[in-house]
Amino acid sequence: MLRSLLLRAAGSRRLRALAEAAPMTRSVVRRFIAGDTIDDGLAAARRLADSGLFATIDVLGEDTTDPGQAERATTAYLDLLAKVPDAGLVGSLDVSLKLTSLGATLPGGAEAAHRNARRICEAAGTVGATVTIDAEDHTTLDQMHGIVDQLRTEFPGIGLVLQAMLFRTPLDARKYAGPGSRVRLCKGAYNEPPTVAWPGRDQVTAAYVAAARTLFEGQGYPMLATHDPELIAAAAVLAADTGRQPGDYEFQMLYGIRTDEQQRLADAGHRVRIYVPCGTDWWGYFVRRLAERPANLTFFLRALVGR
Ligand SMILES: Cc1cc2nc3c(=O)[nH]c(=O)nc-3n(C[C@H](O)[C@H](O)[C@H](O)COP(=O)(O)OP(=O)(O)OC[C@H]3O[C@@H](n4cnc5c(N)ncnc54)[C@H](O)[C@@H]3O)c2cc1C
Repeated sequence: MLRSLLLRAAGSRRLRALAEAAPMTRSVVRRFIAGDTIDDGLAAARRLADSGLFATIDVLGEDTTDPGQAERATTAYLDLLAKVPDAGLVGSLDVSLKLTSLGATLPGGAEAAHRNARRICEAAGTVGATVTIDAEDHTTLDQMHGIVDQLRTEFPGIGLVLQAMLFRTPLDARKYAGPGSRVRLCKGAYNEPPTVAWPGRDQVTAAYVAAARTLFEGQGYPMLATHDPELIAAAAVLAADTGRQPGDYEFQMLYGIRTDEQQRLADAGHRVRIYVPCGTDWWGYFVRRLAERPANLTFFLRALVGR
């Protein structure tokens, strides 16, 4: 119930304006977001690299309703990628894109999002960076997969995200388990109706393990995006069953969440990549983090009222 209310709040422009105007919220938000600028994102990625961790940078933005904004979002990624050599991150960085921030929901949006994502993939190729397309709510996924399929003909290394909570994911996991295919598997962060998604935590966990097994048995590169100890332990079983070594798959976690576990896995020889969000458009991303762990809400509300 609370999760569902919070996820609805993620789309509220009024709450967003209120939160963004309250200076005290900044310190709470900073736990999850590297900073307002792409330089902040790159600096965080650099610090992670110094600790043996990899990064995927998300320039925050989603649900763009303005073509100018889609162009600014694209340019932000191009600027970020141009700075990769100076940041010492050539050959190791990934960038995460939301197609709705590149214009996918505008009229004629599929073409615009494809064009913008293509520009970013080209720029990424020049600095040895990879690109992963985030999964948004279920209504966007057919269009997203269409664009990814088109991009894969030119950029076979492009990755995409699958959400274990969705009923469609077993089929999608089979479709994207082929050679070279980079797939990030997460539980799913959106408020989905029971017609398309498993409602219960145990069901989502079981669906996650099943989809992960499909990916591990396939010939692609699975990226397990989770902080859940049960799923992290399941990865060891899957790796043993399928003969995969660390490096044949990776763990991914979010910036600021379970940082000790991030380091522990990296120190144990695993490849661990951290999702580093940066930018000023943090509301939707931040509220999804509150919804995952309502205890975070208390800190945020205290900060909002200045106590
Ligand atoms: C790299 C990465 C990329 C992602 N990309 C997408 C995407 O494209 N689309 C999408 O729908 N979802 C995405 N997600 C979010 C994902 O779907 C889940 O909502 C999120 O990862 C929480 O699920 P969990 O597997 O960590 O398990 P949970 O059961 O939610 O968490 C397990 C434990 O992790 C810790 N934890 C988890 N979340 C928080 C939090 N917010 N604050 C504090 N502690 C926390 C707690 O200790 C918790 O007990 C992504 C997640 C990661 C890690």
